[in-house]
Amino acid sequence: MGACEVMGACEVMGAGELTEAAERRAAGAVRTAGPRLGTARRWSLGWLAVLLPWAVAPASAQTAPAVVCRTCDNHGTLPCSKHGKLLEAERAVQSCSVAIDCKVCLGALAVDCKTCRNTTVEVELQRRQQTAREWLQKRRTDIDQTAGGDPLCHLLTQHVELAFGIKPLQVGKDKVDTHPLMHLYGERIESLRKLYLETFALREEEQHEVLHVYMFRSGTDQARIGPRVTGIGVSQSTGTKLMGVDCVYSMWQDPRYFPDDEALWRGVIHNVVHLLVCNTNPSQVLYNKKAGWLDEGIAHWFEDKLTGKCLNYCFEEILVNPGANWKGGRWRTPVRKLVDEGKARPLAELCGLNTDQLDFPDHALAFAWIDYLLTVHGGAKLRDLVREAKQDRPMREALPAVYGQNVLTIEAPFQQWVKEHYPAVESR
Ligand SMILES: [Zn+2]
Ligand SMILES: [Zn+2]
Ligand SMILES: [Zn+2]
Ligand SMILES: [Zn+2]
Repeated sequence: MGACEVMGACEVMGAGELTEAAERRAAGAVRTAGPRLGTARRWSLGWLAVLLPWAVAPASAQTAPAVVCRTCDNHGTLPCSKHGKLLEAERAVQSCSVAIDCKVCLGALAVDCKTCRNTTVEVELQRRQQTAREWLQKRRTDIDQTAGGDPLCHLLTQHVELAFGIKPLQVGKDKVDTHPLMHLYGERIESLRKLYLETFALREEEQHEVLHVYMFRSGTDQARIGPRVTGIGVSQSTGTKLMGVDCVYSMWQDPRYFPDDEALWRGVIHNVVHLLVCNTNPSQVLYNKKAGWLDEGIAHWFEDKLTGKCLNYCFEEILVNPGANWKGGRWRTPVRKLVDEGKARPLAELCGLNTDQLDFPDHALAFAWIDYLLTVHGGAKLRDLVREAKQDRPMREALPAVYGQNVLTIEAPFQQWVKEHYPAVESR
């Protein structure tokens, strides 16, 4: 009877005269009547098998009924129930160590449905578990065993591989534990990368490297792992980064620099943007190419864009006292003052300096230059200018090629723009 109902609905649908509501009912009928249809087919095929045994094999191969199971709605699996509110976050990433440690699903986020058999799905489930296990084992050997300190969580998203030991932090109204905090940072870094690509009108294939980020709870872990993964032996510092073909940033939650979530995220923004800039084709560092103003300016611009302040500086040699900053990291008004008083270092000088030659006001000016170039001339041109700088083209040639103005003639419109757009007095 069930089968007949369904067939009836199908006939009507074929006639193309269904109203929307009737269509929905018909679709519902097909779904709910599914098992009965399957039974009816198997029954009739059984009869055929008795009557015409030689004719059945090819027929049943062609019309083999799909797996029909009410328990799992024909998926062959059921969602793992152990991930609570984080199930969606887990599904959004490629691998998470905490999910992989789940004793029920081993990171597949789904369990086999015991009511039905679906070999394809079962094989896929095992493949996912094995891939996840292998990835995590390698991370445990390479990172956790070397660090030997606090337990680490690991996350793999589309473009970010993250080792994470940060202690729980207050985020807005909530205290967020290490594991969900790692997911939050994974999402934030992904969206920062997306914003970076959009800002500079970059295509995905111009930015193809995975970002490797290590965020440790203690300075000891950073001291053991940081130099290993970045190849830079500055074990006392808060963070190290390796820029080039591999993009690696390793840091620890130094409370003097990163007392809370906002400060920590701002530090990650600054440093990850450096990795992104370096890794945009052609992959090349800028800080030692007399392009400190471009490299620092862009990193500051994203700090400001996303958190409203610039508080991170890259000095190669100079020790910055923890918490040292310029004008509280809010730079528009101080830059306006420099320009008004004729104290702004001109671009002609600024663009001859490496990152470690910039002083505090230079950092702020670098930010303002990037702000001006992006706002007035757009991201695509700045992207081209960075490309020129990476190829060692001096600014006196690169600037006219990209902007049609030289380092001297572009100074006046910049200063004019600052006077028009940066407030003389901060409005707060
Ligand atoms: Zn099932
Ligand atoms: Zn997770
Ligand atoms: Zn699970
Ligand atoms: Zn920097």
